[in-house]
Amino acid sequence: MLKINRIGIFVVIILSLILSACGRNNTHFQEKSINEENQKISDNYENTENDLIIVTSFYPIYVFTKNIAHDIPGVKVINMTEPQTGCLHDYQLVPADMKTLEKADIFVINGAGMESFLDKVMSQLPDLRIIEASLGIPLLKDDNGEENPHVWVSISGAINEVHNIAEGLAALDSKNSAKYIENSEEYVKRLEALKDKMHDALKDIKTKDIVTFHEAFPYFAQEFGLNIVSVVEREPGSEPSAGELAATIKAINDSRVKVLFAEPQYSTKAAEAIASETGAKVYILDPVVTGPKDAAPDSYEKTMEENLKVLVEALYD
Ligand SMILES: [Zn+2]
Repeated sequence: MLKINRIGIFVVIILSLILSACGRNNTHFQEKSINEENQKISDNYENTENDLIIVTSFYPIYVFTKNIAHDIPGVKVINMTEPQTGCLHDYQLVPADMKTLEKADIFVINGAGMESFLDKVMSQLPDLRIIEASLGIPLLKDDNGEENPHVWVSISGAINEVHNIAEGLAALDSKNSAKYIENSEEYVKRLEALKDKMHDALKDIKTKDIVTFHEAFPYFAQEFGLNIVSVVEREPGSEPSAGELAATIKAINDSRVKVLFAEPQYSTKAAEAIASETGAKVYILDPVVTGPKDAAPDSYEKTMEENLKVLVEALYD
C-alpha cells in the first residue's frame, strides 16, 4: 500500500510538472492576459461583496442574458434601455444610460451595427468588457449592401446568439462559467423544440410571398422559406413617401401578395392604406424588440408562439 501510494504521489508530481510546463509553453499570450482579466472580475465582485453587473443593450438581448444568468448568486442582469424602446437603429444614449454602463462589469450587445452608439461607449468606458451576441454569425445584406442586424428574429439566430452570450460570460466570469453554459443549454433545448414546432406547423404553407414593415424579418423569412417581396418602411417609425407607397402597391399587385405583416411597435397606417389598394390583408408579426419591464424567462418563446398562430392563419389561406 505504502509503495503504491509513493508511486502515486510521484506520478502526480511528475504529471503536474509536465502540465505546468505545457501550460507555460503553450499558453498564447492573449489567452493568458484574458485569464488574468477574468481573475480580476471574479475577485472584484467576490471580495467587495458586490454583484457582478451585466448590462444588456435592449430587450431581446436582455431576455437571452436573463435566461443564461438565471439563478446565479451575485450576478445581476440589467437592461440599459426601456423595454418599450424597440430596435436601437437610431438610438441616442441618454445620461441615465451612461450611469447604468458605469456600474456595469460586462455589456452585452447584439452588435452587427444595431448599437450605433457603441463607439461612444467604448471611448468613454474603455475598460468595459463587451460581449457581441451576433459575433461570427453570417449576416444577410439589404438592398443597399448594409448588413442586417436582426439576427435574433429567426430562432436559429437566437440560438446562435444565446451560445455566443453564454460563451462570452463563461470566459469573463470564470467562477460561474459552468452555470452559464448549463443554463444556456437548457434554454437552447427549449428554443430548439420551439423551432421544430414552428417548422412542423409551417411546412405545408401555400403562401410564401409576404410584405413586411422595417427590415426585421429577413432571417425569420430565411428560416421558414418565406419570400419578402417588399419592405414598406425601411427606417422604423418613418412613414413611406408617396412614391415608395406606390412602388409597394405595384409590387404587391404584380406578385399577387395576399398578406402584409405590420409590427406592433409601429403604426399600421401605411399597411392599412396598402391593404385597401391591393386587397391584401394586414397581420401583426412581432420581431420581439419590446416587452414587459420584468421580462419572464419565456418571453421570447411566448411571442414566437403568437407569431406562429398569425403565420398559420395568414399563410394557409
Ligand atoms: Zn430593427
